[in-house]
Amino acid sequence: MAVIVIGGVSGIGYTIIKLDRDNHLATVKRDVENGLYATAEQVQLRFFETVLIAKKIENILSTSGGVVDAKIVRAVEEFQKEAPAIVAVALAPGLQVTHSFPQGDDKTAIGLKYWQVPEQMASVARAYRGQSAVVDGPVSLLGGKAGYILRYPVFLPRSDRDLDRFWGIISIVVEADSLLSAERHDFGDASKYLFELKEIPASGLPAASAGNGDISWRFEPVVVEFSMLGNRWQAKARPTDGWPSYSPQSSYLVGFSLFSAMVLLVVLLAYRRLAVKKDNAHALLSEAVGCISEGFIAFDDKERLMIVNEKYLDYHSDIADLVVPGMKMDELARIAAAHQPTPLDADEKTAWIASRMDKFRNPGESFIQQVGEELWLKVTEAKTPHGYTVGIWTDVSTEKHAQDAAEAADREKTDFLNNVSHELRTPLTVIFGRATFMRNSDRLPQSKKLAMAISAGGTPSAEIAGAVKTYQDFISEQGAGIADSAQHMIRLVEDLLDWTKVARGKLELDMQLLKLDELAFSVVEDLQPNAKAKGLKLTYSGDSTAEAIADKVRLKQILYNLINNAIKFTDKGSIHLAMAKEDGQVVFNVTDTGHGISEENLERVFQRFQQVDGSMSRKSGGLGLGLAISEQLAALHGGTLSLTSKIGHGSTFTLKMPSSEGVAEGTKSAGETSITIENVA
Ligand code: ADP
Repeated sequence: MAVIVIGGVSGIGYTIIKLDRDNHLATVKRDVENGLYATAEQVQLRFFETVLIAKKIENILSTSGGVVDAKIVRAVEEFQKEAPAIVAVALAPGLQVTHSFPQGDDKTAIGLKYWQVPEQMASVARAYRGQSAVVDGPVSLLGGKAGYILRYPVFLPRSDRDLDRFWGIISIVVEADSLLSAERHDFGDASKYLFELKEIPASGLPAASAGNGDISWRFEPVVVEFSMLGNRWQAKARPTDGWPSYSPQSSYLVGFSLFSAMVLLVVLLAYRRLAVKKDNAHALLSEAVGCISEGFIAFDDKERLMIVNEKYLDYHSDIADLVVPGMKMDELARIAAAHQPTPLDADEKTAWIASRMDKFRNPGESFIQQVGEELWLKVTEAKTPHGYTVGIWTDVSTEKHAQDAAEAADREKTDFLNNVSHELRTPLTVIFGRATFMRNSDRLPQSKKLAMAISAGGTPSAEIAGAVKTYQDFISEQGAGIADSAQHMIRLVEDLLDWTKVARGKLELDMQLLKLDELAFSVVEDLQPNAKAKGLKLTYSGDSTAEAIADKVRLKQILYNLINNAIKFTDKGSIHLAMAKEDGQVVFNVTDTGHGISEENLERVFQRFQQVDGSMSRKSGGLGLGLAISEQLAALHGGTLSLTSKIGHGSTFTLKMPSSEGVAEGTKSAGETSITIENVA
């Protein structure tokens, strides 16, 4: 990765440097080209001046009739002084050089016959044929320098004919170096360039100059073309040391590229270190999670699966292959819904997924989920401060089986109690009925018959009458005792039956609109004798307008229970039932001045079969079911039963029920509602 990035950066750096170099080279060449055009203009100008000089000589010749006299010699010398680039001038009347300037320098040219020197004759002939000046060159001059020769054909006018007479040739030699001198042209430092000025032959191809055969790009010349004296010319320039390989700012660019590469390298190394650290942390977390003996699963804030341990996959072996990091929770929920131990239809699946996602998004209490025929898992989910969701899956199959077994046993026990209670209730009712007869034995027909039989023989003796009375009293007393006990047992059996009904979810409420004031008053009236029997004052106060939709029998049962308990557990003082409406509820308070219940027992008294004071309860009888049943009945009515108490001062039991005021009129006028409460135990 680092190699690729550094390679990439180097590549980009190289490309930038190359582009910069190419740009720079193009600029330099453009400058050179402009310089060459300027040079070409200078050269044209120079040769134009040279032609003018030749023309002036021609004029002087025409006035002298073609004779080269001292006047011409002086004029030529003047011209040469003015134009230092002109290194030599030769006058060749009849194509034979007769005068060469500067005079005395070198006389080798004098007498030169052009027609005998082919390389000179070519340009001379062209000038003659074209009747105009031509430039020949570059040619090697004496002294090794290069130069150009302007051949100017001189035609002198003739008075006798129309056509001018060809006099000869004026040759003017211009030194190449001087012609292309540095200062004059816009090259910057022209000394660093080699120049070449050449005529383009009629064929169009520039003559190859020696050594130019295979020029590398570094020495490739810049070429411009221009017209001069009726011909095409070519000016070339190339740097003596070659074109620049780098631009002036290349070094900065190289430095910048290197610096960038270094910075990138440092960043990459730092990133790699971070990545390694992260990998290590992740590996550590994975190992730690792998060591957990419970199933562990974690999702990020986008509900994507991040980590899952082996145990979780073991628990979900049938979908383990489908559980992959990155998958979304709703996808996992869909997969789980499709793999439920009890197959679900489409609607059930949708509902299952919705409920599962709701639990996932709003984690609260742990819940149990069955994931296999015999596998039950407790799922505890929580959200982290960063919005991640972690889940711990614990195998609770053993506990679940134990709980199922306990519930089954409890059900069995309840069924048994129910059966026994049923079986006991009938004979107990018979016993109670018969004992009630015995309670007033003197009114029995048999007693009356006995009395008649005794009195048939006359008035019985006091002894016999006394014995009969004693016998009847004894029977009545026994009957009363049996009836009381049978009644008590019937109450216990009724309690048991009620409880089993509640426990099996089979308790049916017969809901109707009740006037609570009447109902409470009647309960108090019914129990007045019991209170009186213990010398207790039982009073009632209530809101005459209070109404509620409730089961009349069951509501009375709750109040009987509470007041009976109050009578049972109060030795002296009073019991008061108060009823009032409060915030859409009806509140019954049963207050006594009895023994009270200690704080640690406040909760216990509502549990089934719980009696907090053994001796007292034994004295008072009961199974410890009354409050448990009452609390369940209150709950079935949508109410609550609670207790405040102080040992030695008495207790207050509070029953709160929804009043009918919150219920819609339609429901009220329906009069009766019957509901069956299932599985409330
Ligand atoms: P039981 O049928 O045995 O009375 P309950 O469920 O009605 O069963 O009551 C459970 C226990 O709560 C009683 O045994 C008694 O110890 C206690 N208790 C109930 N009511 C009162 C009360 N008003 N004052 C004191 N103790 C009470």
